[in-house]
Amino acid sequence: MYETRVTPEALFTCRQCGDCCRGFGGTYVSESDIEVIARYVKASPERFLARYCQPSGSRWVLGQGANGYCVFWRDGLCAIHPVKPRMCREWPFIRSVARHPENWFSMAASCPGMRTEFSPQQIAQCVERILAASGDHGGG
Ligand code: SF4
Ligand code: SF4
Repeated sequence: MYETRVTPEALFTCRQCGDCCRGFGGTYVSESDIEVIARYVKASPERFLARYCQPSGSRWVLGQGANGYCVFWRDGLCAIHPVKPRMCREWPFIRSVARHPENWFSMAASCPGMRTEFSPQQIAQCVERILAASGDHGGG
């Protein structure tokens, strides 16, 4: 059955609520994220990891402040916005949704900007197009 294409704007509009910046363990940082963010905060990668991150399995995630938000969530804004981790930049058009579009619906339960009245196929195709346009052809 033919289904119409959906645009990214139809699928998602950020409400600036900050909910995605709250809670521990969600925000993985890749090696290149670590390098770029460490430079931005004027720290060595080792110092950056020790001060702002915590291990999660074999990887690193951004730590959480006493208020329950990401350590870089300050006064309602992301303090490292220009260099925030790839996961934050791409959200919610992330690779795992292209692979498993049902993830979109569980993510939407905690992100009021995500619309859910489209089919998994429409969502997956839209995310694929965005990732392909950004040069992300897999991995990650
Ligand atoms: S939870 Fe969703 S709507 Fe709220 S700030 Fe994050 S991306 Fe935007
Ligand atoms: S890095 Fe910025 S956008 Fe990402 S979770 Fe932390 S405060 Fe939010």
